[in-house]
Amino acid sequence: MERGGRMICQGQPRVHFAHLPTPLEKAPLLSEALGINLLVKREDFSGLCVGGNKTRLLEFALGSLRDKGVDTLIAHAAAQSNKLRDIAAAAARCGMEAVLMIPAQQDPEAVPQGNRLLFDILGADVREIEPGLTAEAILAVQEEVRGELERAGRRAAILDRHLDYGVDATIAYVEAAEELDSQLRAIGETPDAVFIAAGAGMTVAGLALGLKHLGVPGRVVGVSSASAAAPLLMAIEWQAERAAKRLGLSTRLARDDLTIVDDYIAAGYGQLTPRGAEAVRHFARLHGMTVDPVYNANVALAICDQAASGAIQRGATVVYVNTGGGPAIFTHGADLAGRGEKGALARRTA
Ligand SMILES: *Cc1c(COP(=O)(O)O)cnc(C)c1O
Repeated sequence: MERGGRMICQGQPRVHFAHLPTPLEKAPLLSEALGINLLVKREDFSGLCVGGNKTRLLEFALGSLRDKGVDTLIAHAAAQSNKLRDIAAAAARCGMEAVLMIPAQQDPEAVPQGNRLLFDILGADVREIEPGLTAEAILAVQEEVRGELERAGRRAAILDRHLDYGVDATIAYVEAAEELDSQLRAIGETPDAVFIAAGAGMTVAGLALGLKHLGVPGRVVGVSSASAAAPLLMAIEWQAERAAKRLGLSTRLARDDLTIVDDYIAAGYGQLTPRGAEAVRHFARLHGMTVDPVYNANVALAICDQAASGAIQRGATVVYVNTGGGPAIFTHGADLAGRGEKGALARRTA
């Protein structure tokens, strides 16, 4: 395999706007504090608008949509979604339009913040829909909008994880695994564990599939932001299989090939606990890096907790793949302002 480490996805339709490879950094002060050898893969520096794990996948998604003549992208997610922000940014970069559907806001007078503010700046057509719809109902609403846009002469596509977008997200991280492998080889490091955030699970699915395919040792640990481990592992297996088929790989990912940590979901999606806030501060103050409160605070906390409990052995080499999400920091001011409560990290909250 070529040393540059980006071969598996060769031949997939693609546009180029990501800054690759993303850096793999040593973190000496954090490593010392945690008693491990921590390396940080900076996916938050992947380019486009503010970086993050969606940049890579949108290169593939927009590559195939552009080939089909698509000029308008439709997507639904939360009002602070990184996915919607990056779809708006990628649309702008490629001369397309973005129609972003979000659940109707509780306070229509509130000044937009974080990603929601970036949707406006990036020129997206933001439409509020009824909150609390099922996945099927959301797809139906998106189909309706697609019909409306097509009647107006646009060529519109829906970017939803149940459609091609899910496969694009997964193959993008098969390629990221290949890139990481070549970076690790170049510095002579072998991982004992690879930690990454898991939302719907496409990113961790691709990373785990890619590392397995390449024979890279080290357990992949996905830290869940919302879903319990069992259903998430089922979704991951399915996404990995779809990606393996697209790429023509014979490797299949089984649920035993990775670990999902769902210890931090009780507070609810996007809720930052005092221990999560302390993990954010810990990583910021010992590495000068801000991890996002929705996904990566849980990952930082899992690394701290597992290093403290011995679940990660002393001296183990741990790769932490930071998936970005920075703008959410600015919607969690109340949780993060001030110097913080000393010792919050030490106490286990139920
Ligand atoms: C979307 C996102 C994730 C989760 O990716 P999935 O593929 O849905 O698991 C993790 N971190 C950040 C910052 C994200 O924006």
